Amino acid sequence: MLRVAVVGSGPSGVYTAQALLQQSRVPDVRVHVLDRLPTPYGLVRYGVAPDHEKIKSLQNSLRAVLEDDRITFVGHVEVGGEGGLSPARLKELYHAVVYCVGAAADRPLAVPGEDLPGSFSATEFVSWYSAHPDTAADGFTLGARSAVVIGVGNVAVDVARILARGAAELRSTDVPPAALDALAASRVRDVHIAGRRGPSQARFTTKELRELGALPRARMVVNGAELALDPAYAAPAGAPGTPPLPAVVRRNLEVLRGWSADPPPQEDDLERHIRLRFFLRPVELLERGGRVAGVRFARTAPDGAGGVRDTGGHEDIEAQLVLRAVGYRGTPLPGLPFDPARSTVPHLAGRVLRDGVASPGEYVAGWIKRGPTGVIGSNRSCAKETVASLIDDAPLLAERAVAADPLGALRNWGLRPVEWNGWLSIERAEAALGRSLGRGQVKIPDWPGLLDAARGDGIG
Ligand code: NAP
Repeated sequence: MLRVAVVGSGPSGVYTAQALLQQSRVPDVRVHVLDRLPTPYGLVRYGVAPDHEKIKSLQNSLRAVLEDDRITFVGHVEVGGEGGLSPARLKELYHAVVYCVGAAADRPLAVPGEDLPGSFSATEFVSWYSAHPDTAADGFTLGARSAVVIGVGNVAVDVARILARGAAELRSTDVPPAALDALAASRVRDVHIAGRRGPSQARFTTKELRELGALPRARMVVNGAELALDPAYAAPAGAPGTPPLPAVVRRNLEVLRGWSADPPPQEDDLERHIRLRFFLRPVELLERGGRVAGVRFARTAPDGAGGVRDTGGHEDIEAQLVLRAVGYRGTPLPGLPFDPARSTVPHLAGRVLRDGVASPGEYVAGWIKRGPTGVIGSNRSCAKETVASLIDDAPLLAERAVAADPLGALRNWGLRPVEWNGWLSIERAEAALGRSLGRGQVKIPDWPGLLDAARGDGIG
């Protein structure tokens, strides 16, 4: 029997567990899926926006995998971190360990004023409305009339959409009561989304972009003059040396040009406005009264090679709330190698490389392997590649003696894992919380609440 630990129960972790069960070369594989949280599903639970019900429903297929008899969910067990299990200890328990720990940190903007009150990473905002139990920040929309979201990826679109929706449209989702109350009291009227490059380089996908234009109480404002294409794409189609315009850029441009043709909004218009801007590079967050008051941008223009150059012009946009949606970043896990330039674990086809040499029994999959890119489904092929490497190594791995009862060993080390029954108790408690509020399932937003609910049934 091959005993494998998968660290992380987000999509990459669950797809790794699934690939381990689906392969046929090693018939008897048992998988423990460990998570720091007492809840499974990673970013599907704590990152996918609450109003994206269809993507959220992926939890059902992840659940079906985790309910397989050969898989054990082991929540509330930290690997790495202060007081967490070390990779060396995990190797004593399992023949192989696959790290699927994602890219949990946010990238800094590295401009003056970034730490002013009122300036947050999009990750903090997403964690707050997703009820992540580590959320410390609060009061995002308090007193704000104008918000600036920096970055033009799908996370920027998510947070802008949640700001523009308001509470009434989110009541049917699992947003926790405190966030719902704050969004109900929000006076944010203008949400600016600012990209440092142009629409040819925007990272959002067309479906997500279109959704912004379909919000019932918000309208899009786009300035046609800012839709300039990089000259590399602007040459006539088929001109020698001209790269074809990627399909996603073509589709995005159609949507953006449609919005730019709309009449300009009226000042007395009661709707919220989402102002999608391009060619604005943030250089400083402005301060008034000890809080953020706006963002100063350098105006940029296409440089003909996919990048931008500064034009020498500047623009200040007023904002009492600034959200930096400039991408995620992997963080080092003590005891595992780390490539600081790429913020990933060095690997060869998923095998962890220590000093450039594959380390038998240690693997990576997901964002910590390839960086924070792609859609949820991208993790399937990524996991399959890693599992193929692991299974190739299996004859060697299975020779090593490991603990007969890893869960018992974890308990002996003072850990109190939350197993699947504990998670089911949390789910029941969240359903009961929702019923008491006249809503559907509502997430429990704090550690004591989650652990109390788990303890009802199943905590070790
Ligand atoms: P992203 O797609 O990498 O976008 C990051 C954005 O930040 C880019 O526009 C980037 O501009 C900008 N940026 C980076 N550094 C900057 C700086 N110093 N100053 C100004 N702008 C800066 O990252 P993301 O939005 O966090 O998304 C991460 C992944 O999750 C993506 O694969 C995304 O598709 C996925 N996701 C998907 C969904 C969905 O499918 N609904 C929802 C959320 C997230 P440059 O291009 O100029 O660097």
